[in-house]
Amino acid sequence: MATSELLDVAPAAKVAPRVALLTGLRPTGSLTLANVVGAVQPLLGRQQLEQQPILLFVADLHALTDNEPAAVAGQVRATVADLLALGIDASRIRLFVQSAVLDDVNELAGYLARLVRVSELLRQPSLKDKLRAGQGAEQASAALLMYPVLMAADILLHGAAVVPVGEDQLAHLELARLLARRFNAAHGPTLVEPRALPGPALRILALRGEKKMSKSDPETALLLDDDAATANRKIAGCQTAVEGRMSPHLASHLQLIESLDPEAAGEATAIVAGHLRGERVMGRFKQHFARVVTDYLARVQSRRARLTSGDIDLVLAEGRAFARGSARRTLGEARQAMRFRADVPRTE
Ligand code: ATP
Ligand code: MG
Repeated sequence: MATSELLDVAPAAKVAPRVALLTGLRPTGSLTLANVVGAVQPLLGRQQLEQQPILLFVADLHALTDNEPAAVAGQVRATVADLLALGIDASRIRLFVQSAVLDDVNELAGYLARLVRVSELLRQPSLKDKLRAGQGAEQASAALLMYPVLMAADILLHGAAVVPVGEDQLAHLELARLLARRFNAAHGPTLVEPRALPGPALRILALRGEKKMSKSDPETALLLDDDAATANRKIAGCQTAVEGRMSPHLASHLQLIESLDPEAAGEATAIVAGHLRGERVMGRFKQHFARVVTDYLARVQSRRARLTSGDIDLVLAEGRAFARGSARRTLGEARQAMRFRADVPRTE
């Protein structure tokens, strides 16, 4: 069958997952509280419950898309430290660096790239946003175009059932699902079709402006390494809402408070109720918001300060061994399914 015909076939071939949850974060700076609630907390909430492994990776290859390689490499261990300080239990969650499976993930991305059209990649909303915000297609690197294919390979390489991501990554996850279906339709059931977490994905807004909160815009983000004075200053300058009204920013701040400290949510909701009745309480809201955030940051920062370099080495070595084994297994199956690579034994 020609590749162009394969692209239109999408029967439902189900393959049993081998990993309960998988998610990745780019080492592009100190993590934000949006990263925490969008991607990390769903893992923390399930790390004691899942029977199958949970995988968490530091996406250094993805960070190369818009950052210098040396800067990315220099940030990897800080991101691992952030993740451990957030309460990742390394005996339950395998934590690895994406480039530990560099050959495998690139090989699978190469096979998947055959199954997606250039026009489909050009339609990805994340690409369109980036091209609008920065350089156009004349200047932007092809890494930006291939980003969703590499992300699909990250996920499909490990047979993950569920991928917790923020709203910004949902379109990429959808593409990973589509590529799993197309691969299976072309070569037989091999790759697991991943799902998002049930319920709406989160989109925490930047403290000001219309964009989502991002590591790459640290002045409008709350960072794990912000000291109390910095966090207080940022929150004092955040956008809220006029009396009597709800606004996307206020709803986003409320969501962040609820996720970081459920016990503080009652007071936040009560203040917002007063605001909706026309009371002038946004100053009080900001004080409450700042208290929740600075308490949370203090707890994480004190755990982070106690981590040693040896702790990080140990966690990464275990994660690397697991990820390599998992990747090799999937690739072996994918090669066999494709009847490609003579050095791999065939099943028939
Ligand atoms: P960068 O600016 O470098 O892209 P980022 O803050 O967007 O950084 P990523 O490493 O790209 O962070 O994404 C890590 C995870 O955090 C992804 O699952 C992503 O969906 C999630 N995430 C990022 N921003 C938000 C947000 N504002 N709200 C909820 N989840 C988010
Ligand atoms: Mg991002």
